[in-house]
This record gives sequence, C-alpha cells and structure tokens, in this order.
Amino acid sequence: MTFSAPFDNSYAALPAGFYTRIAPTPVANPKLLAFNADLAKSLGLADAEPDDLAFAFGGNELPQGADPLAQLYAGHQFGNYNPQLGDGRAILLGEVVDSDGIRRDIQLKGSGPTPYSRGGDGRAWLGPVLREYVVSEAMHALGIPTTRALAVVATGEDIYRETALPSAVLTRVAASHLRVGTFQVFAHRGEVENLRILTDYAIKRHYPQADGPMGLLRAVCAAQANLIAAWMSVGFIHGVMNTDNCSISGETIDYGPCAFMDAFHANRVFSSIDRQGRYAFSNQPQIAVWNMAQLATALIQQMDDADAAIAEATEIVHAMPAQIEAAWLKRFGAKIGIAEAVADDTALIEDLLALMQQDGADFTNAFRALGTDHAADEFVDQDAFAAWQARWQARIATEVDPAAVMATANPVIIPRNHRIEQMIQAAVAGDMAPFNRLMAALAKPFETTDPDLHRPPTDQEIVPATFCGT
Ligand code: AMP
Ligand code: MG
Repeated sequence: MTFSAPFDNSYAALPAGFYTRIAPTPVANPKLLAFNADLAKSLGLADAEPDDLAFAFGGNELPQGADPLAQLYAGHQFGNYNPQLGDGRAILLGEVVDSDGIRRDIQLKGSGPTPYSRGGDGRAWLGPVLREYVVSEAMHALGIPTTRALAVVATGEDIYRETALPSAVLTRVAASHLRVGTFQVFAHRGEVENLRILTDYAIKRHYPQADGPMGLLRAVCAAQANLIAAWMSVGFIHGVMNTDNCSISGETIDYGPCAFMDAFHANRVFSSIDRQGRYAFSNQPQIAVWNMAQLATALIQQMDDADAAIAEATEIVHAMPAQIEAAWLKRFGAKIGIAEAVADDTALIEDLLALMQQDGADFTNAFRALGTDHAADEFVDQDAFAAWQARWQARIATEVDPAAVMATANPVIIPRNHRIEQMIQAAVAGDMAPFNRLMAALAKPFETTDPDLHRPPTDQEIVPATFCGT
C-alpha cells in the first residue's frame, strides 16, 4: 500500500527559478528507526505500517500528492557570502495544513544529491540525524520555536566521511524552509521580480499582518529576538548561525554541531568548525542582529525609494538589540523567580551567571536548585553564593509565587551532549533503547521522570566538541 498524505503544495507553484524539481534517490534497504506518531497525527497523516513509512520517508516510494523539489538559496557562511547553496541533500516532499491550521513543509534530509549538492553525496550519516531528531523534539517540548522531526529511516547503505558510516534519512517538518539566504540569492542576482514574489509569499505564509517588505523585516526581527533569548535561557548554542541557517518563520533550524551547555561559560563554543568562536554562546544576540542586517539589505533591493527604505531598515535593525535584551530579561528574570523583571534586576541575574562561570556550575542544575536547600552544593565559592542568595531573597520577597515561576522556566532535563553521544553509539550498534529513553524523558522537561539523565557528564563522559558530520 502506498503511503498518502493530504498534500497542499504552494512552493511548487512559485516560479521555476525558486527550485529544481527532483525526486529522492531510493535507498538499498529502508528501515524505520523512529517515527513521531503524535506529530504525524497533527499533520493529518494516515496510519500506515512501518514498512510503508520506511519506503515513503526513505525516499523509495513517493507518497501520493508529493511534488518533490530542492529549494534554491544562498547565504553568508561564517561571514563570507556564498552565492549559491540550496538544498544539497534535502528534498521538500510537499506541504500539509496541520490541525492548528498552519501550513507545514515535510522535507527529507539526506535523500540523495540535487543540482545544489556541489560535489557532496546528498546523504547524512545516522549520528547527526538522530541528534537533530532528539534535540529538535526536546526544543519543542521546552516550548521554543523549532522545526520538528517526523521520522528516521536507516538506508542500509554506508557513506564515507573519514570512515564508513551508516546513513539515514531524517524527515523534518517546518513552518517553512524560507531562510535569510532565500532572499539573499535573488537580491544578489538582481532578480527583483522574484524577490517581490518571495516577499509576498513570506508575508502571506508567516506574517499576514505585516505591511510590505519593511513590515516583514520588523516581524522577522521580533521573531528572531524572541528565539535567541529563548535559546540562551536554556543554555543552547546553535553552532552554525549562517544566514542560510536562519529561518524567516523564527524557528530553530538546521541543527548541526549544536549543543546545550553543561558547565556555564559565556564564551562556550562546541562546533569543531567554529575556530574563531563566531557563534559562541554569548555572541548569539549580536550574530542574530548581523543576520537581520543581511535580510534588510536583501529586502531593500525591491524598494522604489531606496533612501527612505535604508532609513527605515536601519531603524528596525538598530532596535533589535534592545528587543533581545528585553526578551532575555523576561526569561532570565523568570529563571530566578521574578515574574516581570525590570532593568534593575539585570545586575542580580548577571552576577549569578558570573558566579556560575567562575565556579563552573552546571547551568541547568544550578538554576533548578535555586530555592532548594541544596542550592549551595552547585557552587564552589560558598561565601559568594551566600551573599548573592541574600540579595536574591530580599528581591523575591515581594514576588507572589517565585517557586511557581521558576518551576516553568527552569527545565530539569536538557539533551546533554554525553547522553546524545551514548545514544548514537548504541544506535549504530543496533540498540535504540537509549534513544527511546532520552525521548521519553525529554518530552516532559519540567518533570522528574528519569533523574539519572539530569546528571552532568563525568570527566570521562565530557564531549568537548560536536562535529558537523555532513
Ligand atoms: P549545512 O551546513 O548543513 O547547513 O549545509 C550547508 C550547505 O551544504 C547546504 O547547501 C547543504 O545542502 C550542503 N550540504 C551539506 N552536506 C551535504 C552533503 N552531504 N551533500 C550535498 N550537499 C550538502
Ligand atoms: Mg543549512
């Protein structure tokens, strides 16, 4: 039986210059390793047998109504403009309208080469596929905007990186795959008509209230400001915030060498390819603003009155640092029990972070312990922590229910790097139990269901870097 989905494709109706129609490349032996039944239900997908799902989401049999294509985009990678990237190993099957009435892309990643592959094999190895599945679903459970993961299909084929590795196909679900780089490619080529069509499409799809290109810019800046503050509030480092990995919808997208921090350090970098620390934890706000400046530059190319557009875009982008700071203050205020933090609370939060950094405190566990009788155990310098705690208690004395505010702002569990590595090793050996265990606990990040997963890594377990692993 062929798998079917209620496809309703809009991107495929855009001009031919936006994409290349191409089908996924079939794989040797598709086997369903993971499937997100709840997500499938919300997308209105029909029930199906695992083998049919493996054929559909491994790329061997196109679901009815699919109109597969690879999207064109460009982007700044580590600050340097690359005029043509595009889906080099991803294929959009089509779109469905979900149970909330929101249009969602269903995309295969690792589904074979496309005209944008630039010498790559179009495949992904199992490790990063499972990392994206776990981390994106954890992000969703934390209430942070993100693409989702629908399925993992093992291909039964090895691919060659430094060594032979098992390959897999991830099925990703997104509000769209429009990126800053999608706008850049048309702007840089001087394809103004395509830029206008793309702008209209993005407004209709994501921000129907937005008024023209500058209204779109304003909306994307607001969404990105919220996203960056949300990442920081859970100690997340994206790792590759290139403009092609920056979503117009404001979702976290393109999980590569990303990680949640264990011990707090503001300059923490995980990605093995980020040698300069461009995308370090505390640089993320600044980079998000830089990315929005690139979006602004692209959007302006279609404006009749360039001077007025530049003035307005500059005002919008310059307002963003304050937006991020306000979102940061709200989220970090909640993490210390303050329902509506004000600017005067900034020092209290920053002093705690400085103490955490000095003592190498575990970011997640230290916040979660605040207000318990074992809070001081998370710190080394007991006098400094006691002094901070006294200031903090004086501040929250006037709050209505600080414990309740903290309980929903401080997760007990994050997808820790060492657990992800252990999960990948097991999966490569054919054991999906650690994957299932992680997924079960991460689905309820504010509840204690599996305390051993709260533990920071031992010295032997520490994962110093995450690898791009394309
Ligand atoms: P990423 O760093 O994963 O966001 O990818 C950057 C660009 O490289 C995108 O255009 C990808 O489609 C492309 N790419 C990454 N890995 C591969 C691969 N194995 N084969 C072909 N293209 C790839
Ligand atoms: Mg990418």
